[in-house]
Amino acid sequence: MSMINQYVRPEILSTPGYVPGEQPQEQGFIKLNTNENPYPPSPRVVEAILQAAKRLRLYPDPMANAFRRVAARVLGVEPQWILCGNGSDDILTIVTRTFVGQGQWVRYPHPSYVLYRTLAQIQGAYFEEVSFRPDWTLPEEFGRARDGLRLVYVATPNSPSGTLIRPEVIARWAQQLPCPILVDEAYVDFADQNCLELVRQYENVLVSRSLSKSYALAGLRFGFVVAQPQLIEQLAKVKDSYNCDALAIAGAAAALEDQEYLAQIRARILATRRRMAQRLQELGFQVTPSQANFLWCHHPERPARELYEELKKSRILVRYLEYRGWPPGLRITVGTDEEVDQCLERLAQLV
Ligand SMILES: *Cc1c(COP(=O)(O)O)cnc(C)c1O
Repeated sequence: MSMINQYVRPEILSTPGYVPGEQPQEQGFIKLNTNENPYPPSPRVVEAILQAAKRLRLYPDPMANAFRRVAARVLGVEPQWILCGNGSDDILTIVTRTFVGQGQWVRYPHPSYVLYRTLAQIQGAYFEEVSFRPDWTLPEEFGRARDGLRLVYVATPNSPSGTLIRPEVIARWAQQLPCPILVDEAYVDFADQNCLELVRQYENVLVSRSLSKSYALAGLRFGFVVAQPQLIEQLAKVKDSYNCDALAIAGAAAALEDQEYLAQIRARILATRRRMAQRLQELGFQVTPSQANFLWCHHPERPARELYEELKKSRILVRYLEYRGWPPGLRITVGTDEEVDQCLERLAQLV
């Protein structure tokens, strides 16, 4: 009999673990399932990485200051307000480990990013899932204090819905909550509002960002959090000393430097999103208005799972998602116009 069940902490044994979207290793798929950017990153990114590759003998800067300086300028904060991570998932891990201990509570909305639950479970913490209303707003109780509550996560724009929570609402919660609130802005570059201003006003607001989606750098693994410097100092103790590698720091700094490029690909994606939502509606889909680079939809007559399977047979990957208490749906990434047209044509044959 294996002893593994005795070796491993019970919290880990009982955690299913986070399951990311499929990444087929063969070519030839239209990939609209993990919200990657369909366009390449800024050409300056590759240049910067090639330069940095000449200095790989040395350890990277532990605080990624080259990135912090550029990001601070772009965002209008000071570099000490920024902590960098190996993707924003790393930021979520650092934040959770800093604030949440065993037997304490975290809170987040349902349905939302599934990683929040995994992170709480790994800490041996309890989690409170507050359901969205059918219109994707949250009840006021989401911002209420409770004993033992140590951290609140909220993704805005949210996944899978693509909907935004207004900064005024987050500000109200920040004032009522006895703990930090982590505002996960992984998709915010596709939205028309963000919560960065709140970081100045409230010491318990942290805003995390990712370079994976809007900057087309999912493979580079780079994200960051903006918070007041006294908080950043504490988070820095928890992170791995060299959590961002030298290539990632150089590439990420170059990406943020090129705001003009970001504006170009953003505009394209928003135009495609508008057209895609309209066409899906014409095909009879219910489409949630999106502020992100994906659309959440379902068809009243055709089960989402069937549509997902049929699309996959045609080598078009979308994300089929089912959440307790919610009708299953498809989360479809906004790809290039050609990719989206192929997906829409196939769907038109299926519904
Ligand atoms: C993609 C995503 C992240 C993580 O992004 P990385 O920077 O690639 O780790 C975080 N939160 C949400 C809601 C996401 O969709």
